[in-house]
Amino acid sequence: MREEYIRPWEKNIRSVVPYVPGEQPREKDVIKLNTNENPFPPAPGVEKVLKNMDTDSLRLYPDPTIGLLVEEIAKFYQVEKEQVFVGVGSDDVLAMAYLTFFNSDKPILFPDITYSFYPVWCDLYRIPYETPALDEEFRLVKEDYYKDNGGIIIANPNAPTSIYESISTIEDIVAHNTNSVVIIDEAYIDFAGESALSLIDKYDNLLVVQTFSKSRSMAGMRIGFAMGNKKLIKALNDVKYSFNSYTLNQAAILAGVEAIKDKQYFKEGINKLIEIRKEAEKSLKELGFDFPASGANFLFVTHKTIPAKKLYEVLKENNIYVRYFDLPRISNYLRVTIGSKEQMDKLFEFLNQYINNK
Ligand SMILES: *Cc1c(COP(=O)(O)O)cnc(C)c1O
Repeated sequence: MREEYIRPWEKNIRSVVPYVPGEQPREKDVIKLNTNENPFPPAPGVEKVLKNMDTDSLRLYPDPTIGLLVEEIAKFYQVEKEQVFVGVGSDDVLAMAYLTFFNSDKPILFPDITYSFYPVWCDLYRIPYETPALDEEFRLVKEDYYKDNGGIIIANPNAPTSIYESISTIEDIVAHNTNSVVIIDEAYIDFAGESALSLIDKYDNLLVVQTFSKSRSMAGMRIGFAMGNKKLIKALNDVKYSFNSYTLNQAAILAGVEAIKDKQYFKEGINKLIEIRKEAEKSLKELGFDFPASGANFLFVTHKTIPAKKLYEVLKENNIYVRYFDLPRISNYLRVTIGSKEQMDKLFEFLNQYINNK
């Protein structure tokens, strides 16, 4: 009985169903292919700058404008620094962008199968939303976005499907929606193809969001950024300064600068990963898996005979973690992160003996 008494303050709690991040097991011998982390270390300059960090500088607040990193990102992408906004991972940037741009009474639009954080922020901020269905092949149906809306968010490449849509499809959606802000979440773009960044000077309603978590191997440092028209970036900064002025800490700013400066290490890392992805595709095909062509650092796989949930469980029992989503339309799929060559060898060693002995 006592549990059932609802205190007056409890009625005022903003209750939300939270996003559930992938498991982060603590054991060291785990093959961790469940949260799309990069198997390679960050650029060597990151280790150097953190080891040599002047800890006395931690007495001071970090630069609220994140100036050093903003300038370095602007230089890398050849945009102006007033076109760059930096936040604590792209989750923070996206949450800030929802708060800043999605304030209409009309629903915002995103596909039925996509990053599962999108509906959570809608719930948190009380933003109405609609989720047009991807087609049978999990492809975007661009005509579904030719209607009145309060904003649009699209992940390209999409998660968890791994599918990259061409820049012309993205441009078509942006061009049909010049009355609302269109956010393209490009967490995996460096493993795919052309970025929508090339369109930000043509469309003032386009915001492109990227992250250091995947292609730059820095998920633990929490750095994300958005690029777009100066008005969009100013609006984002105004909201940020109304919320928390000091988002990135001093170590993250310095490490981020080192990571983005090292263009060669960045390119080589991506090429190595794509090479491992190619080999993984071959092995998976031989084992009877199907999957769409991937533009990301993961594959979205389904097996001809073995149910995904069963495979997920068996893999986990053998200390190999992949991601399973018990959701409509994708409950027979697994999302498998591309790991190091050694990790993938162990995965395939297990799958070979498990599937061939069935
Ligand atoms: C990983 C991921 C993010 C979040 O990345 P962080 O920068 O680590 O917060 C955002 N969107 C998609 C689609 C992702 O897969």
